[in-house]
Amino acid sequence: MKDLLDNFAMTIRGERRTTAQGIEVINPAAGRAFAFAPDAEKSHLDDAVASAREAFRGWRQRPDSVRRDAVHACGTRLIECAGELAQILTREQGKPLGDAREEIVGAGVWCQAMASQLLPGSIVEDSADRLTEIRHVPIGVVGAIAPWNYPVILAFGKVASALVAGNSVVLKPSPYTPLTTLKAVELLQDILPPGVLNVVSGSDRLGPWLTEHEGIDKISFTGSTATGKAVMRSAATSLKRITLELGGNDPAIVLPDVDINEIAPHLFWAAFRNSGQICMATKRLFVHDDIYDAIKDALVRYASTVRIGDGALEGVQLGPVQNARQFERVVGLIDDCNKRGLNFVAGGEFRRNAPGYFVPISIVDNPPDDTPVVAEEAFGPLLPMMSFQTIDDVIARANNSPYGLTASVWSKNVPAAKDVARQLDCGTVWINEVHHLTPLMPFGGHKQSGLGVESGTEGLLEYTNTQTLTTRHATAMA
Ligand code: NAD
Repeated sequence: MKDLLDNFAMTIRGERRTTAQGIEVINPAAGRAFAFAPDAEKSHLDDAVASAREAFRGWRQRPDSVRRDAVHACGTRLIECAGELAQILTREQGKPLGDAREEIVGAGVWCQAMASQLLPGSIVEDSADRLTEIRHVPIGVVGAIAPWNYPVILAFGKVASALVAGNSVVLKPSPYTPLTTLKAVELLQDILPPGVLNVVSGSDRLGPWLTEHEGIDKISFTGSTATGKAVMRSAATSLKRITLELGGNDPAIVLPDVDINEIAPHLFWAAFRNSGQICMATKRLFVHDDIYDAIKDALVRYASTVRIGDGALEGVQLGPVQNARQFERVVGLIDDCNKRGLNFVAGGEFRRNAPGYFVPISIVDNPPDDTPVVAEEAFGPLLPMMSFQTIDDVIARANNSPYGLTASVWSKNVPAAKDVARQLDCGTVWINEVHHLTPLMPFGGHKQSGLGVESGTEGLLEYTNTQTLTTRHATAMA
């Protein structure tokens, strides 16, 4: 037990910190604990915040180029360690090893790319009397809170922007997936000054402590809409800056002119990649009536070729659902569909009390829009597909959601697809693809999918306060 508790440590002030009691971390493919993460007390958080505040003073003064070089080096280190970190990520998160490696390399690439972004500055008056400059200055200590579906890339997207902009960070991973993040932060400590990047792990009490903490100036949160609202309420007490990346119920709209066999695999992975646990996964598939049956058959055929299992095993393409709570949520929706007599063309059955949180690929055939499987975010391998007849109708149905994260439109007629895309109320729309994101593209939700954006110049600016600096020239005072 002692060994297991020592294996994964928090990092505060550049030092490893363990706790006497740990939180169990479960391998979702087995449904059993395999390691422990530290369970921070409030005093650990206070220490991490104090350490970040001390480090902030020096970090903000460093030249931009020095900070950018350090963040770039962090990215390189993550890429070098991707093989080792991926083993941990697969065990705690469940995703196949190749996907785990891709996530960690992606986190590294993200750090490198954010390190090359420059904060824009401008001069709005340069006259005989005065010079007025607009500057973007760091905010202070950033509390970064990550979810369990892409724990590493989402955490390091925040860390990279925060550090490039001159802030220090206290990072909190999800209690379901703390291990890879703890190890990754430890691996970066010889690159960064002590206290610039701290990580704390713990049970459900830690998130509220962090968002209420008077020593934190900004919260960057990725997680569910319900928790995002709690974060916003809690941040209000000291008027912290907030960026909220929240849930989605993302529509894909398939027009009748597509090449069915060509797009079926793309539509499949749009919905089922990472076992459907992606904020921007296709969660409502709208297909034109003329091709509805053909798309349905192609999806079912494709689904039958996909291998589900323990992500650590060779050849597995989809792992389990990440945790017991999420398993219950997804099978609860499947149960509800069965009770309503809805038709599953794939999956639709599940076993409770089996080892691991496995849910089969499940596709529901034409459920009414107001049933929970359509109206709510499942966040698992469960996809409702619905037919439509007119463009106006499908746009109204796609927009009929409190969420507005992403959407996709599929057609050979690009102008027609763009015309549909422009009418969708969401932060990102893809035409004839999904999930293409780069560090240059701002990403964020409309409506209850979030507030603010991450990435791109716009994302970087969210880690700054604006300062207007006006100098009246001596000659003007004469
Ligand atoms: P969650 O909201 O349960 O937890 C997210 C994080 O918040 C975890 O670290 C958790 O410990 C912490 N937390 C929980 N309660 C808190 C509180 N009261 N105060 C502060 N922090 C608290 O979300 P989850 O189940 O981990 O993630 C799944 C959700 O995240 C889905 O809704 C998904 O769509 C969303 N998500 C959104 C994006 C995006 O970019 N928009 C990306 C990934 C996931």
